[in-house]
Amino acid sequence: MPVNEKILTVIITIDGPAGTGKSTLAHTLASRLGLDFLDTGAMYRAAALIALELGINPTDGVALAAAIEQSKMHFDWHSDPPTLMLDARDVRDRIRDLDVSAIVSTVAAQPEVRAVLVRQQQRIARAHPRLITEGRDQGSIVFPDAPVRFFLEADMQVRVDRRAEQLRAAGKNVDPKQVVDDLQRRDRIDSQRTDGPLICPEGAIIISTGDRTVEQVVDEMESHIRRELPDAEFNV
Ligand code: C5P
Repeated sequence: MPVNEKILTVIITIDGPAGTGKSTLAHTLASRLGLDFLDTGAMYRAAALIALELGINPTDGVALAAAIEQSKMHFDWHSDPPTLMLDARDVRDRIRDLDVSAIVSTVAAQPEVRAVLVRQQQRIARAHPRLITEGRDQGSIVFPDAPVRFFLEADMQVRVDRRAEQLRAAGKNVDPKQVVDDLQRRDRIDSQRTDGPLICPEGAIIISTGDRTVEQVVDEMESHIRRELPDAEFNV
């Protein structure tokens, strides 16, 4: 089939709770298929960092939304994975600290914050129409028409171990009890908010990531994608 008859626009969404391996899987899958990778959690984390640094109350959605608009938040697409920037400042490591994690779900529950970031994510997808995007609401709210939507699940202990390992690898101090508390608190707030809650989108493909390697899960996701999108062109 000539290339111009192939589908060149591909949006794939991956949602699920923290610690299910979303970022690693989305990034690995994107590299394999030659698609761009969007980590929307990084955007909410950067919004939380803005709240901390400007002394804005995490529940003050109006003030936060205005500060986000001013912050020149964007990704540097020259690096892989893309780096979250606030104007000229690389905040990719800072946004993983526990003080950011502690307030990010409260910040993300503010409808005004979500409105700004959802708009930015949809703008990013127009500029990067071959995209794997991961978060909590990507398949339900932001890209409900995406042709392939995944929802990831794993047991709490697996998620805790995975998150602790990520923090350790990033050279951060790890108190396992604090990691459990962080995940449980974020699960509760993310699932219970009224705007863009963490849910399994209707019609999404549910993937259990618990006791399997990244390669095994990526293989399974890739075969779903190739089955659902037989005419899509990858690695172009
Ligand atoms: O993905 P990550 O765990 O880094 O996300 C941090 C937080 O950002 C989540 O706990 C959630 O509160 C928020 N988030 C969100 N919607 C998204 C992505 C992340 O509310 N699409």
